[in-house]
Amino acid sequence: MGCIYEELNVPIVVNAAGTATRLGGPPLAEVVTETMAKAGKASVYVEDLLERAAQLIRKVTGAESGLVTSGASAGLTLAAAACLARLDVAKMRQLPDSQGIPNEILIARSHRNAYDRALTLAGAKLIDVGVDDWAAGAGVRGIEPEIFAEAVTDRTAAIFYLARREERMSLKALVAVARRYGLPVIVDAAAQLPPRENLRRFIAEGADLVIFSGGKAIGGPQGTGILCGKRELVASAALQMVDLDVPWEAWNPPRLLFPKEALQGMPYHGIGRGFKVSKEEIVGLMVALRHFVDAEKRHDQMVGLLRHMASKVEGLAGVDKVRLVLDAPTPLLQIKLDEACLKRSPWEISTSLRYGNPRIAFNEQLLHQGILIVNPISLRAGDEEVVVQGLAKELASSLR
Ligand SMILES: *Cc1c(COP(=O)(O)O)cnc(C)c1O
Repeated sequence: MGCIYEELNVPIVVNAAGTATRLGGPPLAEVVTETMAKAGKASVYVEDLLERAAQLIRKVTGAESGLVTSGASAGLTLAAAACLARLDVAKMRQLPDSQGIPNEILIARSHRNAYDRALTLAGAKLIDVGVDDWAAGAGVRGIEPEIFAEAVTDRTAAIFYLARREERMSLKALVAVARRYGLPVIVDAAAQLPPRENLRRFIAEGADLVIFSGGKAIGGPQGTGILCGKRELVASAALQMVDLDVPWEAWNPPRLLFPKEALQGMPYHGIGRGFKVSKEEIVGLMVALRHFVDAEKRHDQMVGLLRHMASKVEGLAGVDKVRLVLDAPTPLLQIKLDEACLKRSPWEISTSLRYGNPRIAFNEQLLHQGILIVNPISLRAGDEEVVVQGLAKELASSLR
């Protein structure tokens, strides 16, 4: 197992951290890798394959259409490009120069995040809206959707919403405001799976475009994502992504993603031309998505695995207490270190594990509280023992 990385002399990481991009995403199920290998054995028109994927995405999300993108980040850029250009070919040719095009995307101040610059790559400009006392801990009031109405001008192109579990601003209410001005709402839901229901939720609540990461919990190839929503907008995104080196008269693409009749001629290669998705990845994502939708048992398996790990870790010298978190979409195991009896800090211990032999990556989100988190989603069979033993060894050598 893992011999290609041994051959390349790249150390393997036992991934108890979750679905981080820097860890290359979760290991792919065999059925995904096998299908990807098969997909590499022939040529197809990528447009035809994307159209099939669009039909599948439509079925599982309830959206009018869907596009496989090269990750959620690329999905954000294409979503912005779609809202700026719509099906106007001249505007597609102009982007990312957005002069003369309504290019402002409204965003709640508390939704600003390090991924949102992907929107600006398309030529969009982010306009911060509102003050969030609740998020800042300064009061009880969050951002109310009505405040967005004050920021709408004739330069506004879209409204952005960051989906997250603890969010208090109602997407439905924000969509109602957007509708009054005919503005599309883009939802970044990259990491909002599981629960599976979220595949449909944001579309059902009225979002015009929703972005998911394909390489996180869906378990698709690391380089994939999904952009789903209104047909015209998804079509605009698709047109700005694919290879268009075809004469207009000779172009006969499938029409859900490529509504030729609605276009005034052929755009140039769009700003998403560099976000190429290979046919192997498109097929891999489709298979993973089908499995993700069908998987019932996975949650119970993960809980069982964590209970087993908890029983082994509990009582280790250097561990204060362990806690199984079951009310999260993915079950987690929190391991609180007993800092009083350790001579090294939690960060030193986690770093030493991350670069140890074997390399073991924990989720470090609560490390500032001395808590190592096991997220089981990317663990392979047998990894649980490696994690437990690695931690035991590390703690034994760190005792005062
Ligand atoms: C992970 C993430 C992304 C980027 O997803 P990729 O598929 O790696 O491009 C964007 N937005 C949010 C909120 C994320 O968590």
